Amino acid sequence: MTGFGFEPRKANGVLYYTLPYFELMGTRVAFTTRIGGKSHGVYQELNTGRNTKDPPEVVDYNRQRVAHALGLDGLQWVAGRQVHGDRVAVVTRSDAVGGTARQPATVGAADGLTTREKGICLVGYFADCVPIFILDPEPGREVVGLAHGGWRGTVLHVARKTVAAMQRAFGTSPSGCLAAIGPSIGPCCYEVDERVVREVEGSFPNPGRLLRRCGPGKWKFNLWEANRQSLLEAGLAPEKVISAGLCTMCRTDLFYSHRAERGKTGRMMAVLTLL
Ligand SMILES: [Zn+2]
Repeated sequence: MTGFGFEPRKANGVLYYTLPYFELMGTRVAFTTRIGGKSHGVYQELNTGRNTKDPPEVVDYNRQRVAHALGLDGLQWVAGRQVHGDRVAVVTRSDAVGGTARQPATVGAADGLTTREKGICLVGYFADCVPIFILDPEPGREVVGLAHGGWRGTVLHVARKTVAAMQRAFGTSPSGCLAAIGPSIGPCCYEVDERVVREVEGSFPNPGRLLRRCGPGKWKFNLWEANRQSLLEAGLAPEKVISAGLCTMCRTDLFYSHRAERGKTGRMMAVLTLL
């Protein structure tokens, strides 16, 4: 589809990636970079992750700054506790009460979120794991979904299960959905061991397309393609699934990378809301 891809954008000094086509369809979408905040050292400079040693007031400032740059300060923000699982939370107005960009309302352990309520901001925090943005653009009954897939979530098919939850809760038709796989650790860099390989082999019908041997006991696992397959399995059309093709480990100038920076790093924020 023409123009259906990620593009960088800068607002109030905050550099983020967005999906112009999703925005045309009445959503706001963002995946932040490390540019535009006031964190120092290894967290420089737009760390939005609370589970780090960055002072919480700095993280809050950065989160607020992103919300302001996106024009989403006044909305109700909701996050799941990301546990590398496959639970998908269907977010309603009552779940979102009191949620802000600094401190989103939480819906318990959930690596997938979906809502059809306008003005609820779904948010997740990332540093190598795969953010998956899903939109059912059906006029009058639009639905959004946001999933978090590290290797565990990916082999548990959190992407497919998020689409299934949209279908179950809201009558979404998967063939009408659009999905975008955001910046995350790429097939160039994501090295895994035999333990992960076994899980991939048990979970995908054609694991050979997802794994490339790169040394004794070492493979490269293609999380982007795995999540794409998961979305196709959910019923999405191949031309409606795109990937940013941006590797967080290759591009530590732009992104935090848990793997490249050996755990001492910040988090980017993925935001998706119906306006
Ligand atoms: Zn890479």
